[in-house]
Amino acid sequence: MNRRKIVAGNWKMNTDLHEALSLASAIRDNSKSITGVEKIIFPPFTFLSALNEVTKDEKSLAIGGQNCSEHEKGAYTGETAASMLRSVGCEYVLVGHSERRTYFSETSAQLISKIKIALQNNLKIIFCFGEQLSERKSNKHFETVKLQLEEVLTSFPKEEILNLVLAYEPVWAIGTGETATPEQAQEMHAFIRKTLTGIFSKEIADQMPILYGGSCNAQNARDLFACPDVDGGLIGGASLKAEDFCIIMKSFS
Ligand code: PEP
Repeated sequence: MNRRKIVAGNWKMNTDLHEALSLASAIRDNSKSITGVEKIIFPPFTFLSALNEVTKDEKSLAIGGQNCSEHEKGAYTGETAASMLRSVGCEYVLVGHSERRTYFSETSAQLISKIKIALQNNLKIIFCFGEQLSERKSNKHFETVKLQLEEVLTSFPKEEILNLVLAYEPVWAIGTGETATPEQAQEMHAFIRKTLTGIFSKEIADQMPILYGGSCNAQNARDLFACPDVDGGLIGGASLKAEDFCIIMKSFS
């Protein structure tokens, strides 16, 4: 199956304006010749507008917000609306990252609202989910992931669902240097595709890109991306080095 290939970089709360501008420029310049892969960067909100100026002429390099509000607009001090992201050139938004679920107690109901509002504002969504270490150790990882998918995705009709990209990110692998093995990633991605077939259809499951995230780097990306159901990666730490991030983009066989 010839699915979209995607490499996305989540910068989290890193860089200042100067560093963000030079990182985005280096990624843009070094990735120009890399074809057949969609590239996305998720910088901090404050730099999006400036980085849009850097990336807007490079069609295969998109920018996105790391989060958006579950509300459309109004008296929500400190929040950022999906419409605001769109107005500064974002094509994407990350929803459901484990750091948002853990540190900001985001619930599935909130994630559904965020995705609905993002869709209304013509944003595409990278929806993140994945099990905790304790869930994997007690062999509950499939059950957990199925529930995370069903709780959110069943709120969306088939016609809208392909505006989402999925990112399986086992929490025990995020920022820890411990990566899922290609076997573990493939096993879970195949399970996710089976779950999508159950919720939607085989046709949708076959088309939906599923990214792996969790200590993916320039050394291990090739083995992970060689798995038939792994369609790319959501990259944290390694996306802060333009050279490594571009090696990852070139890691599809
Ligand atoms: C992430 O934050 O989505 C992530 C995968 O981080 P890291 O690559 O640093 O584990």
